[in-house]
Amino acid sequence: MELHNLGALIATTSIPDVRWMHGDDLCNCTFQRIGEFANPYLGQTLRVRFCCVWAELEKEYPDFIQHIPAYWDDNSESWRKEPTEWDGGSGMPRALWYRQQAFLQGKSLEDVRAELGDQEPPKAVNIEARRRRETIYAEFSHLWK
Ligand SMILES: [Zn+2]
Repeated sequence: MELHNLGALIATTSIPDVRWMHGDDLCNCTFQRIGEFANPYLGQTLRVRFCCVWAELEKEYPDFIQHIPAYWDDNSESWRKEPTEWDGGSGMPRALWYRQQAFLQGKSLEDVRAELGDQEPPKAVNIEARRRRETIYAEFSHLWK
């Protein structure tokens, strides 16, 4: 495609009804990633659903994508295989909650969406209270070992 044709392509593209956003749960990708590149001086926006593009790329280039069944914890410098309990300062994003529950229950994302429906995901966590509990536990854990 020549560059001048690209302009024609952009001009014929309509404004979408749905705005893709990180965590919108509009695809089944584990790691939803939306790239947005906008420039008011051009009056143009490019949104890329990178997660879905990566899934397509993996079909062509399976050797260049790794799915690792663990999370690298920088604090302990080790792999953690179990999902961490929600400890965010705001409520857990629904899309993340669905994916965590699908993993924990060994179910499909569709099944989890149907089962959890409009139930509320975990609420914000009082980080200071949790840290105090963890500190107390660490200091006195020798008592119940
Ligand atoms: Zn996706």
